[in-house]
Amino acid sequence: MKHQGIGTRLLSLLFPRVCALCQAPSPDGDLCAECRRKYAAGTFLRCPICRKTADRCLCGVDFPSSSRTTIAGRPFLALNFYIPADRLGEEHADRVTERMILDLKRRGTYAEFFAGECARQLGLLLEEAGEQPRDWIFTYAPRSPEKFAEVGFDQGEEVGRRAAKLLGCPFVRTLARASSSEEQKSLGAAERRENAREGLLPRRRSISDGGRYLLFDDIITTGSTVKAAAEILYEAGAADVFPVALARTYPLSPAHPDR
Ligand SMILES: [Zn+2]
Ligand SMILES: [Zn+2]
Repeated sequence: MKHQGIGTRLLSLLFPRVCALCQAPSPDGDLCAECRRKYAAGTFLRCPICRKTADRCLCGVDFPSSSRTTIAGRPFLALNFYIPADRLGEEHADRVTERMILDLKRRGTYAEFFAGECARQLGLLLEEAGEQPRDWIFTYAPRSPEKFAEVGFDQGEEVGRRAAKLLGCPFVRTLARASSSEEQKSLGAAERRENAREGLLPRRRSISDGGRYLLFDDIITTGSTVKAAAEILYEAGAADVFPVALARTYPLSPAHPDR
């Protein structure tokens, strides 16, 4: 038996490392090998409409039409699909992605894991395009001030900062989000326009002219947040905005349009 100091033994008795998802022993961190395998297998899920994986499916999103930026021919990067709870049927019993993203949003769990996945996939795309990560700036679409106050962190910032560090590119907060009460009060034309932009506002002094941005958002559903954020960044002088998401909401199957 390997010798362990009394302190180490005591620590592992007090705080045994277990998988945050299935509670199995997990010496390597928050996610055990079996759950990692399930996550990876889940990334091969195909869209019920176009039969493509999440990184290539464009069903139900309109933001790529307004985006001028592509990397290696891609208008965005999504690591996986996200299936809403009411559509997670028996056939998806092995999926762990949805629970992981919910845990990330509620408690910040797996920020490390998701940052690693983002950095790895982005690194591959940039390499394919012959680009250097250091020429890009990592930023994110922030959650509302109410939500931030409630949980005490922003998952976009938690994942984005770590992914930027892994890639070796700067991380900059370029956007703010107005509180929903401020949005309610607004009646003027300018404010209505702000509402149409998901309450997002530019932090003008932190947006660099000609900057090339990797724009992180956790889940892309219709793409309206990403579209609004990209428009704001372009108007403020950005040369490129490339959306990066942990997941795309799984499109509705044409056979089950009402599910
Ligand atoms: Zn596990
Ligand atoms: Zn599709």
